[in-house]
Amino acid sequence: MKDIEWSKLTFSYTETDVMIRSSYRNGAWGDLVATPDKTINIHAAAAGLQYAQQCFEGLKVYRRVDGTIGIFRPDMNARRMQSSAEAMYMPPVPVDMFLQAMEMAVKYNIDYLPPYGTGATLYIRPIMFGTSPRVGVSSADEFEFCVIVTPIGPYFPVGFGTTPFVINRHVDRAAPFGTGQYKVGGNYASSLRATEPAHEQGLGVLFLDSAEHKYLDECGGANIFLVKNGVYCTPKSDSILPSIINRSLMTLCGDMGIKVEERRIAVTELGDFQEAASCGTGAAISPISTITDPDNGVVYNYGIEPGPVCVKLFTTLRDIQFGRTEDIHGWCHLIDC
Ligand SMILES: *Cc1c(COP(=O)(O)O)cnc(C)c1O
Repeated sequence: MKDIEWSKLTFSYTETDVMIRSSYRNGAWGDLVATPDKTINIHAAAAGLQYAQQCFEGLKVYRRVDGTIGIFRPDMNARRMQSSAEAMYMPPVPVDMFLQAMEMAVKYNIDYLPPYGTGATLYIRPIMFGTSPRVGVSSADEFEFCVIVTPIGPYFPVGFGTTPFVINRHVDRAAPFGTGQYKVGGNYASSLRATEPAHEQGLGVLFLDSAEHKYLDECGGANIFLVKNGVYCTPKSDSILPSIINRSLMTLCGDMGIKVEERRIAVTELGDFQEAASCGTGAAISPISTITDPDNGVVYNYGIEPGPVCVKLFTTLRDIQFGRTEDIHGWCHLIDC
């Protein structure tokens, strides 16, 4: 194992040993290869650069209490990457090939998988993009699929905190009926001008539906859920990414007898909820202390301490991921290293 101060890691890139990659040529994906070189030589006119013909994924690998190694629901990421690729007119990576790439990425970088108990995990970032040079608007016919990994720290280094959020109704994360439901870089590029200034002030950003700016969509890179009188409420919208963690939390709510409502949630309802949190692979569950609506000068308060539903869901999710409780839904994909 590498000599890394695991508990001091943040959500940033630390160099690892190997990248896994495959090239798509003449209508087929080539063999997956492991290479120490994380750079890629592509033409400046590559379709991935010119027209953002690109998509990506994000997964976490956990060293578990019994010493086994697990990835959380990678089959879901495989299928979501296929739908993102198809939306960007790219050839999907077969599910088996995707899973094999995840396992190779972990095996070849096993020394970077943080020890159990540090709160740190190994993050896997698969990405694919068109490499053929294109000046006229048209699809590439050659593509690269690359998988990099990096150890990352717990979202909350000490315990489980809350973060203030701010609504942004001037920048849209994605167009209505556009690319919002796919994990593509273009959505992030166009939201940076909202998220960067907010992050400098220690704030998360909550985006609204881009058609009317009346309903909640999601946070920059995470979905949102809120709790009203013990009911788990999460926005229904055609322009939010279907989060695997949000989906899993809704299943856990079912197990626990917590009622779930997936529906349009108006900004004007924000005062009716007792708890709010962002959720996704990166943040797991990240409780929200306040949501400020700067255009109307209103601050909605959910408390400095995480609420009871957030704590219950967070504890159960973590216990499943780290193997401390029975995985009744078969979510943890164990790998031999
Ligand atoms: C990745 C991502 C999420 C979280 O999805 P998970 O599958 O739970 O990790 C939410 N919103 C956006 C925009 C994302 O890119």
